[in-house]
Amino acid sequence: MNSPDAIVIGAGPAGLAAARQLNANGLQSVILEKAQSVGAVWRRHYDRLHLHTPRSISSLPGLKMPSAFGRYPSRAQFVDYLESYATKFSLKPVFGAAVSAVRREGNGWRAEADAHSAAAPVVIIATGWADFPHVPTWPGMNSFTGSILHSSVYRNPKPFIGQRTLVIGFGNSGAEIALDLCEAGVDVTLGVRSPVGVLPRDFLGVPVVRVAIAQQFLPPAVADFLNAPSIRLAVGSIESLGLKPADKGPIRMIKEDGRVPVLDVGTLAKIRAGAIKIRGGVEAFAPDGVQFAGGAREAFDSVVLATGFRPDLRSLLPDARGVLDANGRPLVSDRRSAEPGLYFIGAITTATGQIREIRLGAARIADDASRYLRRETQTARAGAVSL
Ligand SMILES: Cc1cc2nc3c(=O)[nH]c(=O)nc-3n(C[C@H](O)[C@H](O)[C@H](O)COP(=O)(O)OP(=O)(O)OC[C@H]3O[C@@H](n4cnc5c(N)ncnc54)[C@H](O)[C@@H]3O)c2cc1C
Repeated sequence: MNSPDAIVIGAGPAGLAAARQLNANGLQSVILEKAQSVGAVWRRHYDRLHLHTPRSISSLPGLKMPSAFGRYPSRAQFVDYLESYATKFSLKPVFGAAVSAVRREGNGWRAEADAHSAAAPVVIIATGWADFPHVPTWPGMNSFTGSILHSSVYRNPKPFIGQRTLVIGFGNSGAEIALDLCEAGVDVTLGVRSPVGVLPRDFLGVPVVRVAIAQQFLPPAVADFLNAPSIRLAVGSIESLGLKPADKGPIRMIKEDGRVPVLDVGTLAKIRAGAIKIRGGVEAFAPDGVQFAGGAREAFDSVVLATGFRPDLRSLLPDARGVLDANGRPLVSDRRSAEPGLYFIGAITTATGQIREIRLGAARIADDASRYLRRETQTARAGAVSL
């Protein structure tokens, strides 16, 4: 391809969806992907993972997932789907193309990726969060003689069998990894510092994400008020389990704090049964374990940090202005940014299913990019005529 209309960075769900929609609008794109395959991050997720959002709302544009995948497709099925998606739409990413920076070049952008560098008037950042695991530090952490790993490198319980394991953090990954370990007979404790929001994945047979979609235009406080009785009924008291309930409902948590509540797939039942122990936040590490808030010390052989991700795109976008917040997170995603020709996709937490938002955002971005390119061409022609 000589000069593409757009560069798409990343061949995960977001990059593939964006490239397909650009093609559907008659635009040519090049996908730069640093790994050697599509869906590289989904290949690395933990073995037991299934989508938390139902198949019916989690397809990318133009190709539904087969009904044989069931309501909540497995990680492996989703990877197969991403491969079929790339094949169906003849999406051929350039693999091994790690983009180190995206800089302004004339009226467009240059993605620097050594031999695979490319320039185009439009660039779409679909790089996800996986490169930014948040690894907090605690006093004494270096003295700990057991193993410490971030949830992003956890695969399955095998290496933990026979170990006393502490999972720090009660988000979706922490809750599910604790459950995975518990079901394999590992002695597992959850360290939970902050107040938490917990929802059932399904309520009365309906996926809760469907409720969030139905209520997406309600003010968050109103939606939370309406849902509170059903959530209480479905989840029960979490205070009695040693967990502090969040002081706001799940929709406000997502919208105001960017925090996703736990969609429970069985962890609460294990906590209720005493099979997963709950402790508070960790204050310090010791050579043989940790000290929790309040001073209690416990011995552990291994620690899993389910402490989330903190994406920071400042070094990727040294020239871009007005598109990132003070921590380097995109201010807007799945639509036009403040920089002409620069788009982010899949970058912001949502209550309505991130893959669903990627599907909708890909179409919005491709349409906006088409209009932008038409305007740029007209301006260039007008400039040439007046010369
Ligand atoms: C454990 C987990 C479960 C999830 N479950 C769901 C769910 O059930 N439903 C849902 O809607 N959402 C879910 N999400 C959220 C979200 O939909 C997924 O994370 C989804 O994979 C995001 O797609 P993406 O393409 O934006 O990012 P990714 O899948 O992370 O893909 C980004 C790609 O960009 C590449 N890349 C990164 N940096 C560069 C660079 N500098 N140069 C070149 N290539 C680069 C990476 O190698 C990767 O292939 C989940 C997230 C996690 C972490």
